[in-house]
Amino acid sequence: MAGSFDAVVVGAGYIGVSVAYHLSKVGLSVALIDRGKFAAAASRGNYGNIQIQDMELEHSVDMIQRSAAKFETLEQQLDWKVGLRRMGGLLPVETESQWRLMEERSRIVRAAGFDSHMVPVERLPDVEPLLETKGLLGGLYHDNEGQVDPFQFLLGHLVRARQKGLREFYDTEVTGFLTNGGRMAGVQTIAGDFYAGAVVLCTGARTRQLGKMLGREWDVRYVLGQAMVSEPVEKSLRCGVASASFFERTEEGADKGAIIANMAISQSPHGHLLMGEAMYEADHYRLGVPYPSLPGVSRAAVRYFPSFGKLRVLRGWCSPVAHTEDGCPWLGWVPGIEGLIIATAFRSTVISTPLAGETVAQLVTQGKCDWNISRFSPERNIEYAN
Ligand SMILES: Cc1cc2nc3c(=O)[nH]c(=O)nc-3n(C[C@H](O)[C@H](O)[C@H](O)COP(=O)(O)OP(=O)(O)OC[C@H]3O[C@@H](n4cnc5c(N)ncnc54)[C@H](O)[C@@H]3O)c2cc1C
Repeated sequence: MAGSFDAVVVGAGYIGVSVAYHLSKVGLSVALIDRGKFAAAASRGNYGNIQIQDMELEHSVDMIQRSAAKFETLEQQLDWKVGLRRMGGLLPVETESQWRLMEERSRIVRAAGFDSHMVPVERLPDVEPLLETKGLLGGLYHDNEGQVDPFQFLLGHLVRARQKGLREFYDTEVTGFLTNGGRMAGVQTIAGDFYAGAVVLCTGARTRQLGKMLGREWDVRYVLGQAMVSEPVEKSLRCGVASASFFERTEEGADKGAIIANMAISQSPHGHLLMGEAMYEADHYRLGVPYPSLPGVSRAAVRYFPSFGKLRVLRGWCSPVAHTEDGCPWLGWVPGIEGLIIATAFRSTVISTPLAGETVAQLVTQGKCDWNISRFSPERNIEYAN
């Protein structure tokens, strides 16, 4: 037997690390298990952007509001510098239909208390001086968007959780579940069995596979998202910039199955330009970057920032990012399996992370949480025959 704990958390990405921290903080004995190291999957290859622009608008506004507020005190609470900075986010708009879509998003986001406004084309250079405005109608700007350093963010949570007794088990794949009369009793791994009163799956793109181990068909999907990083250059960008066409395509469901290359670009504090994002819906986990995704990303970036055409790209990467059909996460108890919680497939993961961890800790310790997560119930989209 590998051990007995109050809770086992599977998956050491953003969500799993936050869950492990919050559970450890309230005094539970916690095992954090990952088939790789920490940040082995999607959380190893992202910008760390605290995204308001990306929010799912129908059901997720309350969640994003609550979680965004937690960043105000996060560094203080962790007593750890997570590289938090506020630089704003801009979505350049090219067409009338994008303008209408962005105006509608802005209206909802503003009503939720975020600073969100449309910027006419003549004012775009004030927001982002190097942006090529030819062919643009303007943009949607969110003043409160920001960024964390992904590794400091993860590490800060891990270090503080370790001080509360967290045990970490890396290169330890979960291969099955231990149940006792319909109740979750732990997990089987390649390193032995872990017993626990509560099991929390924060397993991202591989969640569907874990469902199969329980005889369930979980409709958690994933895309392979690709990006690249340039050599460091002098400060060139003020905000994070992403093309509004990303939302148009997502919402219309166009280009399904094809590689979609859009622009999402930001500059790290060290000067590197992080450029993405090409993606495609995948049915495998091979992380080679497929041609022609990165040339597609380059073309999109140079269309908006012609002066970046001569930049040297250092490397590209690919990571599997979970999502659901309705754009809402799976967060809560799994129906019919007492003791099993899922927290995964957040559309804007970084901004949702502090709340996700705290919520799972409340579920484990109190059986319920202090906000309404019924819309995010796991298996909400699955009908079982009686
Ligand atoms: C180029 C790019 C840029 C991005 N930028 C941003 C951004 O700026 N802001 C933002 O919010 N999001 C961004 N994202 C999305 C973001 O990276 C993901 O949504 C986020 O990392 C998901 O975190 P997670 O903890 O849910 O899952 P993951 O990080 O995928 O963690 C899941 C973990 O579970 C483990 N696991 C799975 N199965 C098992 C098993 N059987 N046994 C043991 N362990 C298992 C995996 O190894 C993995 O470590 C970006 C994505 C890409 C591709």
